[in-house]
Amino acid sequence: MTRVRIAPSPTGAFHVGNAQSALFNWLFARKNGGKFYVRIEDTDKERSNKESEENIIKALEWLDLKPDAEFIRQSDNLPKHRKLLQDLLDSGKAFYCYHTPQELEAEQKDQELKKEAPRHICVHKKNQKKEVGGIIRLAVDSESDRVILFDDQIRGKIEFKASLLGDFSIARAVDDPLYNFAVVADDSDMEITHVIRGEDHISNTPKQILIYEALGLPIPLFAHLPLLLGSDRSKLSKRHGGTATLEYQQDYLPEALINFLGSLSYGFSKEIISKEDMIEEFDLAKVHKSGAAFDVKKLNWINSQYIKQLPAAEFKNLTGLSVSDEAVLLITERLEKLSDVQNFDYFWKEPIYEKGLLKWPPFAKASEGEKKVATLEKSIETLTEVGKIIEKFDFKDNKDMLRKLLDDFSSKIGNRGLVYWPLRVALSGKEKSPDPVDIAFVLGKEKVKVRIDNAIKKLEN
Ligand code: GLU
Repeated sequence: MTRVRIAPSPTGAFHVGNAQSALFNWLFARKNGGKFYVRIEDTDKERSNKESEENIIKALEWLDLKPDAEFIRQSDNLPKHRKLLQDLLDSGKAFYCYHTPQELEAEQKDQELKKEAPRHICVHKKNQKKEVGGIIRLAVDSESDRVILFDDQIRGKIEFKASLLGDFSIARAVDDPLYNFAVVADDSDMEITHVIRGEDHISNTPKQILIYEALGLPIPLFAHLPLLLGSDRSKLSKRHGGTATLEYQQDYLPEALINFLGSLSYGFSKEIISKEDMIEEFDLAKVHKSGAAFDVKKLNWINSQYIKQLPAAEFKNLTGLSVSDEAVLLITERLEKLSDVQNFDYFWKEPIYEKGLLKWPPFAKASEGEKKVATLEKSIETLTEVGKIIEKFDFKDNKDMLRKLLDDFSSKIGNRGLVYWPLRVALSGKEKSPDPVDIAFVLGKEKVKVRIDNAIKKLEN
């Protein structure tokens, strides 16, 4: 059976790149009727913390990428790690290295001068002392011309010369394994069939293959996902903006973020695609090889499409707003980010604005000539007339009838802006809003009258 996992380290917030890896692992498991697991890699005692662990779990819950079993903590496996390390030491496949950091540094400098790959070829593997201590390294034959080859399920064949790896370290002590060793022990223990992870781990893969071989364990298949990039095409990091998955919670729907992360590195047949359809189409070999830029504009657009489809009740629940369904419709048609809902606060409270905003044409848009004729008095005149039209209008009639009355009045004074602009501002307090007639119908006659009166009062003061 297909068994995949993500193995995040709890050393910071769950990165959106981790979320993308989780998605691709999850899709692969669902597609193949397999299992998706989460293993918290907490063996780096200094940097791991509970908060980050909770953050990982919360982020996965929010994205609804739930693992098929309780998550596993790497530190719970330490007794198994210790046993495997001891086996390797006993068989001479691993050994204690007693070189000091200064000696290792000198070796590296020498290799640099000779333009050789930096690695440690340790004499202690041959004349192993009896005492315990130093760091544990895997014994790698640096004389051999062995090529370690693996068939990456996304990138195809990848080769590494074993001799370039040196006797790399696998543990600080028998009860303090390093990443490459712990990951092999745990993936094997969990019977992981496909290791699907970020391309920054490609160079670890040959080391892990040698550890599998030394332990006599079956080697899983590997697939390395492209990295998420910032707008300058370097690896996405904090300086590009939000990288923590949960930071997106306040503005984005989880389905939208999933859709976005999926389509960043995979050519799905539709721009807006559900998780179910993603599963249907998913083929690991078709994941893109090159990194994709995290384009927030695209994310916003995808989000807006999902917001539009939200049933009114769900939208109200999510935002905690108590407004009419008609108001929800006007809002969701225009919303890219959930927190922008504040731009529509005139649906639930009196608008607050400077009286100058009621002047048409607005200063920024006006030509020099227009600025002279744009007076507050004109807005008073037109708002007073509009108030009379509203007074007489029966809101049970349809919107187009009100539009027609306002249009007729606009033609009479020969200026549409002078009618609609102050009305928009009186009702919304904003320069940009849905059609004021639509707003008027949501607010209802009484509120519209009050807001027009308030605007006139404001202008007269
Ligand atoms: N803990 C590693 C990381 O967070 C896991 C890498 C892997 O999937 O093997 O990058």
